[in-house]
Amino acid sequence: MSDAFEQRAIELDAADPLRQYLDEFVPARDRALTAYLDGNSLGRPTKAAADGLAELVSNGWGSDLIRGWTDGDSPWMQWPETVGDLIGRACLGAADGQTVVADSTTVMLYKLARAAVDAAPEGRAEIVLDTDNFPTDRYVLEGISRERGFELRWIDADPDTGVTVDQVREVVGERTALVVLSHVAYRSAWLADMPAITQVVKDAGAVMLWDLCHSAGVVPMQLDEWGVDLAVGCSYKYLNGGPGAPAFGYVARHQQGRLHQPVQGWMGRAEPFEMAPGYQPAPGIRSFVSGTPPIVGMVPVRAGVEMVERAGVDAIRTKSVRLTEFAIELHDAWLAPLDVRLATPRDPERRGGHITLCRSDFRQVYRKLWADGVIPDFRSPDGIRVGLAPLTTTYADVVTSMRMIRDQIS
Ligand SMILES: *Cc1c(COP(=O)(O)O)cnc(C)c1O
Repeated sequence: MSDAFEQRAIELDAADPLRQYLDEFVPARDRALTAYLDGNSLGRPTKAAADGLAELVSNGWGSDLIRGWTDGDSPWMQWPETVGDLIGRACLGAADGQTVVADSTTVMLYKLARAAVDAAPEGRAEIVLDTDNFPTDRYVLEGISRERGFELRWIDADPDTGVTVDQVREVVGERTALVVLSHVAYRSAWLADMPAITQVVKDAGAVMLWDLCHSAGVVPMQLDEWGVDLAVGCSYKYLNGGPGAPAFGYVARHQQGRLHQPVQGWMGRAEPFEMAPGYQPAPGIRSFVSGTPPIVGMVPVRAGVEMVERAGVDAIRTKSVRLTEFAIELHDAWLAPLDVRLATPRDPERRGGHITLCRSDFRQVYRKLWADGVIPDFRSPDGIRVGLAPLTTTYADVVTSMRMIRDQIS
């Protein structure tokens, strides 16, 4: 006997226009998997990634060898920019020549934030950030503040929601050099008002840097149109780039030439193979590359982003909102009566692609779920984070996982 929610899930899955994308992913084979709810932390591998990696090893790397850097239609040397342009077009609302793939998110964040701080006019010596931003963002900015003698201005973010436009307006001013915020909060899934906050920061004469790790590939955005200065993001969450896949950085054209990143390596130099004395930045976005591009790591990124481009980020967002709505409905029916607290905004306009559920015993519940092949995330002290990646999560997965949580605590 299936209950009403199960029936709804069957109907929603049958009518899902993105349903066929699940077939493009590598199925879990060697370990039991009941429901994967961590696609917002490590996206699943695409079959195209597996094929592309095999192809790279046998043909590109295996046969072209070092000629792969310079020969053919798509020489590796250009991948930081060409894969960057693809991400810009498919996910960011960014015209070509402003997005680059390199480094990890942490390193790219350091490079862009340092560049912004170094270019700040005299008297602007504050960096604005929030207490609930992702740890690496806080640590990197603490380091830069120490390195450069800049002061940190902390916004006290509500951990169940996130940073509001008014909070930003209150702290920015003529002392502000840089503001760094996450588009989607990693814990609550709060979706910050990117166009409004960017405008407030620009009106104050400061530079805005967005961390897109939890929004790229699942929440549409228009970086160019909204006048964003800088952004960073990772490619292994909703872009399915694989564990440790390289990050991307966006530097708006109006900031290029004005900003100089601190890790000035040979691959970001003009004419690197001249091996000439002295560093001269390459023109445009290329100057934000430091060392040899991570080609092996970019193969799955390219496959994942091409898939997102085909599916369309607007269609992905539509399903994402329905998935989180459905999960919240199940929370209200099954979990709220058992004292589970929803730590995620109910307004879909202010919510990203995951939900967080809290109860004091959820650390133990989470361990039991993992043992049963239901794989959400745990966020200290008491939050189970349910990530609903639209290209791989079914409505049936939502019912299964919420029922398993209920059964553990009832
Ligand atoms: C996942 C994530 C990161 C990860 O940084 P790495 O350098 O790739 O480990 C950074 N910021 C946010 C907001 C994230 O969600």
